[in-house]
Amino acid sequence: MQLNYQDIKRYYSPSNYGPRGLPDDGVRGRLIDGKAISAEVRSIIKADIEQRRADPTTGGRAPGLVVVLVGSDPASKVYIKQKQKACQEVGIKSTLIEMPEATSPAELLATIKGLNEDEACDGILVQLPLPTQQLQEEQLAILETIRTDNDVDGFHPFNLGRLVTREPNLRPCTPFGVMHLLWSTGVNPYGLRCVVVGASNHVGRPMMLELLLNGASVQIVHRFTQDLEAVVRDAECLIVACGKPGLVKGDWVRPGAIVIDVGINRLESGKLVGDVDFETARQRASWITPVPGGVGPVTVAMLLRNTVTAYSTHTNRGAAA
Ligand code: NAD
Repeated sequence: MQLNYQDIKRYYSPSNYGPRGLPDDGVRGRLIDGKAISAEVRSIIKADIEQRRADPTTGGRAPGLVVVLVGSDPASKVYIKQKQKACQEVGIKSTLIEMPEATSPAELLATIKGLNEDEACDGILVQLPLPTQQLQEEQLAILETIRTDNDVDGFHPFNLGRLVTREPNLRPCTPFGVMHLLWSTGVNPYGLRCVVVGASNHVGRPMMLELLLNGASVQIVHRFTQDLEAVVRDAECLIVACGKPGLVKGDWVRPGAIVIDVGINRLESGKLVGDVDFETARQRASWITPVPGGVGPVTVAMLLRNTVTAYSTHTNRGAAA
């Protein structure tokens, strides 16, 4: 299937796909190149922003993203740098607000409320995880304070609810990025037997909803599921997001299955690995994502997309590309 990220709607039309079911041409271990897919999406976003800024109704204003970082978690800093670099490349003005670890929930809420009123700010992203127990206990209140049209992480219950009711607008970045990876294989998602390992609010659950929206038959499993191996063996498409390095063994993978590994785990050696035993899994999978270079880059691309969607709402210029 020819990729065309400018026209997402066509991926929701069953008639645009080939036959149902997992095609198996016997080829194993094709890599799903998240970096290349992300680059393609970003180039479309860049052109879209240029076009929108040229329209007098936007006053030439660039889309604005504000990232709020509380504390100094080194991994968060790396992720934020990646996001800021990507913003710069496509023409989004990104600003970082750094707050000390001792920030109280009230102080963070006041900052968010201020940003909600800032007309140059289209997207607000509070970098997770929050560093202290006090802030973590207030996480839901913090995320709910972000105005729904500024919620570029798509974590506000309103935006998650829109995904539940099949009217998504700002959608969680990682699951929507995974959909792009799946589309890139050309396999028909309608009726595809998908298994999602992990049921977190930000990855597993919205992942299930995205797949359902695209006509897949979805089973979601989690730490209380019995006989994980048997469920995984049945999956035509396996999406793993549990944060447990190597939890899914390669010989559990159904021959010809699509494997998308969301996990990012740093081993003591410093090496980054996913949740799937990659080397053995790639011998059985028809398509598989590498870690790094799979889900991570498309997650960032979806953040940019959400920021342009928010910008287009604020400038009344219709949905983003
Ligand atoms: P989380 O800890 O919030 O949730 C983990 C989920 O996995 C839970 O639902 C839990 O029940 C399930 N789980 C744990 N152990 C299990 C087991 N033995 N069997 C079956 N299920 C089990 O984690 P999260 O935020 O959803 O992130 C998951 C992974 O994805 C992490 O490695 C994280 O770093 C990564 N991640 C990557 C990206 C990206 O852009 N690539 C984005 C978000 C998260």
